[in-house]
Amino acid sequence: MPPDIIIHQGHVNNGTLTIGDVVEAEVDGERRFDIARNHTATHLLQSALRQVLGEHVQQGGSLVASEQFRFDFSHLIAMTPEEIEEVQHIVNQRIRQNLPVYDEEIDYKKAIEEGAIALFNEKYGDTVRVLKIGQPSISTELCGGTHVSNTGEIGFFKIISESSIGSGLRRIEAVTGRGAEVFIEKSFSQWREIAIKLGATPDNIAEKVDSTISALDIEQKNRLAEERKRARKEVEYLLTQVEETSNGIKVISRSVDSFRPEVLREITDLIRDQLKSAVVVLGTIYEDKPAFVAMVTPDLVARGYNAGNIIKQVAAVTGGGGGGKATLAQAGGRFKDQLDAALHTVVDLV
Ligand SMILES: [Zn+2]
Repeated sequence: MPPDIIIHQGHVNNGTLTIGDVVEAEVDGERRFDIARNHTATHLLQSALRQVLGEHVQQGGSLVASEQFRFDFSHLIAMTPEEIEEVQHIVNQRIRQNLPVYDEEIDYKKAIEEGAIALFNEKYGDTVRVLKIGQPSISTELCGGTHVSNTGEIGFFKIISESSIGSGLRRIEAVTGRGAEVFIEKSFSQWREIAIKLGATPDNIAEKVDSTISALDIEQKNRLAEERKRARKEVEYLLTQVEETSNGIKVISRSVDSFRPEVLREITDLIRDQLKSAVVVLGTIYEDKPAFVAMVTPDLVARGYNAGNIIKQVAAVTGGGGGGKATLAQAGGRFKDQLDAALHTVVDLV
């Protein structure tokens, strides 16, 4: 067997390096331990996934960093929140059981016979290192990585996301140890911040959100009621603004205060009920843009007038468009300053 080759990658910050120089290498112990915790956790995770989801779970790949790790695996559908919880629980239970983590150098064929998990597209030598967890082992994998010596050293395991990365492939991102501490601290401080904003405590946030939403609903309803009250006043005013064309058709074409589109339509309904026969085009600035509603009473539709056609031409003056039925149509525009000019065209159109 050829000797193992160990490669270190480095970065020269200052000075020079030549072949034959003697260097002193130093392991960043904390970082390495963070990585070891995450790595051993991938083995526990794989074993728990197989237990909860089934033996079809195969590792696709993994990325073990110091802050967190990800684990890709074959599974057809998204995990349910209950499955995620169960996997998390199993892994944490095995962490608390403080199971021994140990390796054995054995013959490759024997390892596979024993049921060791190997990566599909990985090449292995005749003798392999098998990493086992627990006695009897609850996880046996071919692995050359750095591990903790007892699962208790992992401290705590938390899945932070589960997602799809392609058909039949899922990805879990998780944290352990110090990474889990950072994650949980951050989550809690977010909770606290949200609670303060809502005037709640972290314990009653959900209740507070519910009551805030219903308060907003009430506020919305009150605002709509206010708007409708304003709309009635507007109708009174508009009824004094009726023009009559040379062929005797009553026309109202005015800009009004800002109303939401549904209230604008209600205004034309109220006018129709009063005038019985008329062409009404109203324009307003809603959410900072021109908005129009056109209404033609059925008797005038029978004479060839069409709200959809009228509004198309009116809205075009403000750089917009729209349409609708012959009796009722709506449109939006772009240029606010053209609102009055647009409304002035109505009488000529009728
Ligand atoms: Zn491994």
